[in-house]
This record gives sequence, C-alpha cells and structure tokens, in this order.
Amino acid sequence: MRIQFLGGVETVTGTKYLIEANGSRVLRDFGLFQGRRQMSREINEAMPDELDTIEAVVLSHAHIDHSGTIPMLAKHGYQGPIYTTRVTRDLCGIMLRDAAHIQEQDAAYLNQKTNRKGAEPVTPLYTTEDAEAALTLFKGTGYETITVASGIEVSFIEAGHILGSAMNVFTLREGGKEVRLGVAVDLGRRGLPLVRNPELMQDIDLLVLESTYGDREHGEVAGADDQLCQVVEETINKGGKVLIPSFALERAQEIIFHLASLQHAGRLPRIPVYVDSPMADKITQVFSDNAQYMNDEFHRLRAKIGEVMRPDWVTFTSSVNDSKALTQSKDPAIVIAASGMCEYGRILHHLKHGIENPANTVVIVGFQAAHTLGRRLVEGEREVKIFGDMFQRKADVKVLDAFSAHADYHELLAYVEAVKPRRVCLAHGETSQREALAERLRAANLVEDVLLPETNAYVELG
Ligand SMILES: [Zn+2]
Repeated sequence: MRIQFLGGVETVTGTKYLIEANGSRVLRDFGLFQGRRQMSREINEAMPDELDTIEAVVLSHAHIDHSGTIPMLAKHGYQGPIYTTRVTRDLCGIMLRDAAHIQEQDAAYLNQKTNRKGAEPVTPLYTTEDAEAALTLFKGTGYETITVASGIEVSFIEAGHILGSAMNVFTLREGGKEVRLGVAVDLGRRGLPLVRNPELMQDIDLLVLESTYGDREHGEVAGADDQLCQVVEETINKGGKVLIPSFALERAQEIIFHLASLQHAGRLPRIPVYVDSPMADKITQVFSDNAQYMNDEFHRLRAKIGEVMRPDWVTFTSSVNDSKALTQSKDPAIVIAASGMCEYGRILHHLKHGIENPANTVVIVGFQAAHTLGRRLVEGEREVKIFGDMFQRKADVKVLDAFSAHADYHELLAYVEAVKPRRVCLAHGETSQREALAERLRAANLVEDVLLPETNAYVELG
C-alpha cells in the first residue's frame, strides 16, 4: 500500500497522485502543470506507467490544476471511471471543453508564428475530441463513500474550497491490514461565502496536506464584505467604474453574492453589475442549479431576496458587441471579467479603455502570478502594456486580501490539530511555503512525523 506523488509537490499546479493497494491502482487528480511552455509540455505529456492497469480516477474539484490533464488520459486510451461529485462533473463539462479550446488555439497561434521558419507543426496538448471522450467517463457521486477498486474505498467529504470540491479519505485494505489515507488538497476555509465549511476527517494514518499558504496569513474571511463595500462606494462616488479581473469559477459568483448581501443590508445602492464572461455565465448557472450544496448563509439570503446568483441587476453579457458597448460606456458600474490575472480575455479590453481614467478602480481579488499584468498592477507600476500599447495607469488599484479559497497557515495547523493524523505529508506548495509549514508543524508537535516527498517519490503506507 503506497502513494506516489506524480506531480504538484513543490509547486501549486499539476497535482497528480497514484494510490496502490491490494494490486489495485487508482489516480487521485490529474491536473495541468502551468509554467514555462517547454517544461510544461513535457510534464503534462508524462503518463503514469502502465496506464492500462489503472482502474479508476478520483477527482477532487474542477480547478484546472487538478482536472486539466484528464483529457490526456482519454487520449492515451484510458476508459475507466472518473469519480467526482456531481457538481464537479458538471463544472468540468465547462472547464475541460474550454481548456481543450485554449490548447487548440495556442497550437494554431504557434504554428502561424513558426510556419514562416519552416519548423515542425505544433500539435495541441489535447483536443476537444479528447476532452469529450474524457467527459463520457465521469461518474457523479454525492458526498459519500464508494468502492472504486478491490481494496480501495473512497469517501468524498466537503473541502470548503469551491462549489463541489471534495477532500478524500482512502481506506486501503491489503493482507488483513487497513490504512486510512486522508488527502486535504485543496483545503478551503471556514466561513467562505457560498461553500460549506471544510469537514473533518477521522482516524487518519497519513494526511496529505496542501501548503500553498504555509507561510502566510490571510485577512479574515469576514472582512471581504467590508473591503468590497468600501471600494465600490468610493469608486461610485467618484463616478467611476469598478473593474474586477476574476476567475470565471467561484470568485465571480462570490462577488455576486457579496454584492447581493451588501445591497440587502442597505450598505450599497443598486449599481449595475456586468459579468462579462461567457464562461462565468455558464458556471453561474451550475451554481444556481446546485443550491443544495451551498452554506446556510446563502440559504438565509435566498429566503429573503429570492434569486441570489442571477438577480435582475446582474447582466451577463454574452455577445462581443454587448461587451464592446460596455467597454465604451462611461457610466458607473461594476464589471467582473476574466481572466483573473489579466493575461487574456475581456478584462483586457476593459483595462485598455478604463485604466487611464482616475475615477475608476481595478479591484484585485485573486492570486496574481509573477510576470502577469495583474501582478504589475498590484506592484503599482505607473505604465502598463495592454495589447502591445503602453497606457498610463491612472485608475486606482486596490488589493482585497480577504478573498482566498485556500487555508492559510493558522487554518492548516488548526485542521491538523483537529484531525489528529499520525503522520502528515506536505504537497501543493512552493518550497519556501512547504518548508515553513513543516517547521511550524514540527514545532507544534502535533504529529509523529512530517514528510516532504519529492516529485515521483513514494510514501509506503503498509
Ligand atoms: Zn483549487
């Protein structure tokens, strides 16, 4: 009985684990590695040895860094089941088709560029057909326990990270022995909007834990409402627009929820809100259809105001023409658009037209990776390049730090303290974050051992 860390160890993308017991082999997550092009390609093309002996895939949630290379499995002939919650299955229907489309566009763009040099044509990492083939293998589950292979039973428990997200407890049985392996990757936070709180695991021998923010403290979740209220109020008073670069999944819906709560509490007037992202539109519909998985706070608000996710003051702009009209308009409004790090998508058009207006505010609500336009805005650069042209950054930029769907180190330590596993194995974190968390765990003396596996390392569980 063992777990092998195929990816997503000293990094936060490309999570892939292989779990083996009683002669059965099961994958847990098969996520896209995101980084420099050539290196990413090699990592994302790597397949587990003897793919034909893998009996099942267990998927935690719909984020691409956990689900985004599942189409590669289908491309290489995998035909077994992919178990995940029904919400994640529905979200993956949107996310994986979009990811395939991006892969195809990316390859076409590179070929256009390199053709002139007579280079070998680039093929997409995977195609829409591969994504469609993979989607036929998805088996939706509830938050329940199921047997996925001989000797391997899996429980799906609430992760409190994004809608539909699950942590897993694998009960492994071999030769009369039983081991309980908990996987808390990704682990959310208590008190997040929309999603329920992370559930505790019981009787865990080894807990695999994320360490994304192993060395960081977030603002209080409860502060998100206040932060958003203040920045919206100030901007609207100046007659400006609030431009929010946002991931289409979860963050966009959280912002709608916060705005609905603030309006209901009489803290904000009715301001037109535009969700300028066809993908966020589709994802919001999945949220609307799955209210039973939302937290009590959501249900209390819904009981008072009716529709929360698609109220009449939110406009979902689908056509390019509507989107263009919105970028031209100078009327006060809140615009939520992808991509979350301002690298592509409609937010770029809004920034191009709005960044030089001092009445506007760009509100940062998500992680901004190095070398992205989002990061440059966070770092306060006075001049930024958008679509190849330089623009004076005159709009205000506000970073709201209460928005995070990953536990910080206080919350990670509290989870370990509550679950009381025998050993902890840290993954899903940059080196400095992972090591800082390991030190804190050792200092707190909560577990027998803290393991920091390398990529492809095994941890024996027998
Ligand atoms: Zn995630």
